[in-house]
Amino acid sequence: MSNGSNRSLSERLHTLAFNLWWTWNPQAQEIFRELSPLTWERSIHSAVEVLRQISPQELAARLNDPDFKERVCSVLGEFELYMQEEKTWASQHVPHLKGPVAYFSAEFGLHESLPIYSGGLGVLSGDHTKSASDLGLPFIGISLFYSHGYFQQHIGPDGWQQEHYPAYRPEHLPLEVVKTPEGAPLLNSVEIGHSTVHFRAWRVRVGRATIYLLDTNLPENDHHYQGLTAYVYGGNIDTRVGQEIVLGIGGVRLLRSLGIHPSVYHMNEGHSAFLTLELLREELRSGKDLVQAKKSVASRCVFTTHTPVPAGHDRFSSELLLYALGTFWSGLGLSHEELLRYGRVNPEDQGELFSMTVLALRMSRAANGVSELHGCISREMWADLFPRMRIQEVPIGHITNGVHTPSWATLKAHDFWNRRLGFDWTEKLLDRAYWSKIEEDGLATDEELWALRYVLRRDLVEFVRCRLREQYTHLETDATFFADHALSPDALTICFARRFAAYKRAPLVFQDLDRLIPLINDAKRPVQFIFAGKAHPRDNEGKGFIQRIHEITRHPQLIGKVIFLENHDMNLARHLIAGADVWLNTPRRPLEASGTSGQKVVIHGGLNLSIMDGWWREAYNGFNGWAIGGDASEPDPEVQDRKDFENLFRTLTEEVIPEFYTRNEQGIPERWIRRIRNAMRVLIPVYNTERMVAEYVKRYSSPT
Ligand SMILES: *Cc1c(COP(=O)(O)O)cnc(C)c1O
Repeated sequence: MSNGSNRSLSERLHTLAFNLWWTWNPQAQEIFRELSPLTWERSIHSAVEVLRQISPQELAARLNDPDFKERVCSVLGEFELYMQEEKTWASQHVPHLKGPVAYFSAEFGLHESLPIYSGGLGVLSGDHTKSASDLGLPFIGISLFYSHGYFQQHIGPDGWQQEHYPAYRPEHLPLEVVKTPEGAPLLNSVEIGHSTVHFRAWRVRVGRATIYLLDTNLPENDHHYQGLTAYVYGGNIDTRVGQEIVLGIGGVRLLRSLGIHPSVYHMNEGHSAFLTLELLREELRSGKDLVQAKKSVASRCVFTTHTPVPAGHDRFSSELLLYALGTFWSGLGLSHEELLRYGRVNPEDQGELFSMTVLALRMSRAANGVSELHGCISREMWADLFPRMRIQEVPIGHITNGVHTPSWATLKAHDFWNRRLGFDWTEKLLDRAYWSKIEEDGLATDEELWALRYVLRRDLVEFVRCRLREQYTHLETDATFFADHALSPDALTICFARRFAAYKRAPLVFQDLDRLIPLINDAKRPVQFIFAGKAHPRDNEGKGFIQRIHEITRHPQLIGKVIFLENHDMNLARHLIAGADVWLNTPRRPLEASGTSGQKVVIHGGLNLSIMDGWWREAYNGFNGWAIGGDASEPDPEVQDRKDFENLFRTLTEEVIPEFYTRNEQGIPERWIRRIRNAMRVLIPVYNTERMVAEYVKRYSSPT
């Protein structure tokens, strides 16, 4: 083997490390992990960091191992084939798309090693991007580079959440600075108040898609603005409006400076809605009058709303908005009043705050909620914006969220399905007939499915024990003992992990502790709970919920049986969704617009136990999991909480626990396995982002 061929192999490997394609291809991850297991762990699974830490000599030597080299070549071959593929879903279904889709989102959850997301909204954006790539859709994401990311969570001895913000250096991340043809960093700027704020952009490659992250951390800027993009949803309301100007207006300017003219601007939530004002500016400058200009902007914009309560939407006072956008707006020759009207439900109401959602709705040709129920709620919520229409006619539809299944399937799940379905199962996510095989005999026996559940539950238990050793050191004297005896690989394992927003009601299941303790401690039919999640730094109610659960984990009868794991991120999420027998979801209806975490468990044989809200309200069929309560809502939240707890408790004691522990002679819970098969058949081919992105594409390409 010549050095020359090794060098080029090494170059190809570097190209792969900078393309997040590896995040949904476990064989690729294995290669980076194998190169340096410790760096891989410490960098939270960063391929770029592994290659940074390995010398060229070592890499060359390792690649001279024929077995390793063969696997590297095979992965690189697959990657390069994927990148060059011309016959894609998009080439067949939307060959006429004139320019790429530009997808704007305040956060992208692509991988744990790139912590620029806070929760479900970001993970959805990341999964959307990956599926756009898989489908071959020309696609560009726009977001911000948060150099301090979202916080690292630590729970103090009193159970109160503490936040730490490590600084992330771009050179340790899969980022490349965007340069001018002359090779200097490409700079653009926006006006905020009376200042000009410069920004650069970082390129992230996600398969065939690209994301640009805007970053104001430049010496050219006032000190104050250097940190504008440092924290995910950081700072105060001034920071928020500034970040949103960079995202929306700056995002469009970046695209122009790269010569990119998207056919569609997709606003994922209202944070980016200022982009419509920049498009409006362009149209006015080209000589159109205001009516034509607005029409032209709306013909290119679509909007996805995620928030079913008015208070959850970004709103700014007139003073703040006019201060922040004043200079920008003056350039347009329109009155300030004109600007304010775009953000008000009732344009004449001078007391109304400026709503980013209203701006987005007014300036888009199509809008949607993220589940059937959320579509309904959104039409009611925004009916006043469309005064001459009946509620059913309000032009807000719905596209139910999904997940990027290949990213969420763990290595063991990939192996399991590769062996039974063939390696191309990840390309069959839109094929419902294909997945019906799982309910037929022969593909995977009950024994094999039950063994898979055991493998994944055991993995989770051991992962939790390792985590608890670190977590307990500052809490308990006999930390190691407690950590090593936490949880049982035989017990029914119920998990809850997501942001600790109050409406998600994490502690609901503990409402009547006296009735729950005997359930958990039943020697023949034990139940164990694992919780994880971050509360927003300013959300004291959410932090109170963490504290409550932390207190329960220390109850003498519950130690080692109810666990709270610190620092929820995509890595922790992946362990939990794989190991959970039951995924618990207890939002206060109808506040969970969709929810996606429950969709991630299905490929691993997990079952959902959820309030009839968001995606579950349309996915539940009576057998593919369990519903908590029905469609009715109580006006008094306390009454609702009590009813939901009673329903949850009843379903647990009458259905979930007995079914898990009713075993045949082989020790297998037959009815449970039948539920798993049904869930897999009906949920996998629907609640994925390929189906979701394909639906968006129909919306993008439909005439105005
Ligand atoms: C999937 C995911 C979520 C979304 O959870 P919901 O139940 O939909 O709120 C949040 N955080 C992380 C890290 C996730 O992976």
